[in-house]
Amino acid sequence: MRMGIRVSECIFCKIAGGQIKSDKVFEDKTVFAFRDVNPQAPQHVLIIPKRHVNSAAEATKDELAAIFSAASNIADDLKIKDSGFRMVINQGPDAGQAVPHLHLHVLGGRPLHWPPG
Ligand code: AMP
Repeated sequence: MRMGIRVSECIFCKIAGGQIKSDKVFEDKTVFAFRDVNPQAPQHVLIIPKRHVNSAAEATKDELAAIFSAASNIADDLKIKDSGFRMVINQGPDAGQAVPHLHLHVLGGRPLHWPPG
């Protein structure tokens, strides 16, 4: 594996596999979505591909489509679709990526400032 860690040690793989508990909001055959343990907004969900993928560049088109489609449905379920929400992928050290398993942050429920820090 080019970057980071073994799949067996990946915390998000363990969450998707059920070995680590999470507050799940959505799951299908391709993606798993759960609430961020350290929320930065009233609604803060992480959407991951179930397969271990380090970055968006390594994800398949089907995985990327499933992630963004889930984001739209989750925003609807969380009632932030109309008020607005932000989707963020932190990619690599300069972006502060802490977990080397691709994840899309979905944040909403309050006005979000721009630009981010
Ligand atoms: P990033 O900095 O983009 O890699 O974001 C990683 C995110 O994962 C952070 O917002 C963390 O709060 C979140 N996180 C880390 N461990 C867990 C966990 N066990 N359950 C839920 N969220 C987590």
